[in-house]
Amino acid sequence: MKDSSPDRVFIFDTTLRDGEQSPGFHLDANSKLRIARQLEKLGVDVIEAGFPISSPGDFEACRRIAREIRGATITALARAVPEDIDAVWGSIKDAEDPQIHIVLSVSDVHIQRKLGMTREQVLRRGAEMVAYARSMCDKVEYSPEDAGRADPAYLVETVETMIGAGATVINIPDTTGYCLPHEFGALVGRVIKEARGSDKALFSVHCHNDLGLAVANTLAAIEAGARRVECTINGIGERAGNTSLEEVVMLLKVRQSKLGLECGVETTQITRASRLVSELTGTPVQPNKAVVGANAFAHASGIHQDGVLKDRLNYEIMKPEDVGLSDSRIVLTARSGRHAFHHRLDRLGVKLAEGGDDAAWQRFLQLADTKKEVTDEDLRKIAAMSETNGHVGNGHPPVTDQLHDHNHVADAMRHLIFG
Ligand SMILES: [Zn+2]
Repeated sequence: MKDSSPDRVFIFDTTLRDGEQSPGFHLDANSKLRIARQLEKLGVDVIEAGFPISSPGDFEACRRIAREIRGATITALARAVPEDIDAVWGSIKDAEDPQIHIVLSVSDVHIQRKLGMTREQVLRRGAEMVAYARSMCDKVEYSPEDAGRADPAYLVETVETMIGAGATVINIPDTTGYCLPHEFGALVGRVIKEARGSDKALFSVHCHNDLGLAVANTLAAIEAGARRVECTINGIGERAGNTSLEEVVMLLKVRQSKLGLECGVETTQITRASRLVSELTGTPVQPNKAVVGANAFAHASGIHQDGVLKDRLNYEIMKPEDVGLSDSRIVLTARSGRHAFHHRLDRLGVKLAEGGDDAAWQRFLQLADTKKEVTDEDLRKIAAMSETNGHVGNGHPPVTDQLHDHNHVADAMRHLIFG
């Protein structure tokens, strides 16, 4: 249903399935629906709503999402058994554009130790289940689980068998987050090149972040010809999580001229999506997280602040507005410079008293040395003192002469400034 030009990368969001499997996470149907509505605004191409066989609650959540959400393909996960496939179809068949997603292992480790089957049995089972799913639904995705650790020749055989059986999307997962980017790119490239019928299927990838390489591996796969990526908001998911949606999307946007690829995501909805997922899962985003961390657009050092205030291009490769933030954050700390100090006072609409400039700056520095961040409230108080006193200290000797211990200085400063 979406444009299928070769330079388009389709975004498949699995926040509600793989993301919801994060240890300690649980989303009820209402929470899932709220996230799905935000994913609709974000403009993702595919929403994986859940794993309907797992519980009646999840079945119901998938059904409500399929009935309400428009503009995206709705899918849900099934193991390669008829009961799972029936549950998926039962829950998503009312969607505008439904897709059944089947997962079955392909690595010898999984085939032997998890399934207790042979390679031939796995091929037969997979093909039968793909055909069964296709008897109900036009779109069937097949994920050979643990492809990253599989024998590539057997993976190729699996992929051509499943395309032959009717799979319309082949998703190559690095289930354990084990691959290196050049290895994973080469694997995906080889499968696309060698599997007969690969031109009839859309190739997708699903990377895990156990070694911090999920986004890098996803990018390598895109460069090798994959055109759909599975990812989650805030990178949540099993263990160390999945490819982070916001990182892949902004990577495609910021480096568009180099990569020549695009996606349909409305990037200004990213921050809202990130905050909603964080709130509903009760899990904060790490402050230094790329794109959506609280510090992703915050500048603390005086050199950087001065540079950003002169021209953002000095230290920003993307605009905060592009991800739905109102502005960069200039964090006032003891490392900030006077330029940032005055910038923040101006934005607060606070004017310093005539001649009160140096005194206010000294007050700021002394306070900044005692705490992590000087807030707007602190600034207002500093400015208010500059009006009433004109200079720091109000006739008292400098606090640093009175006390040497840092904590005492801190206490004394708070007392001096805020009474
Ligand atoms: Zn996964």
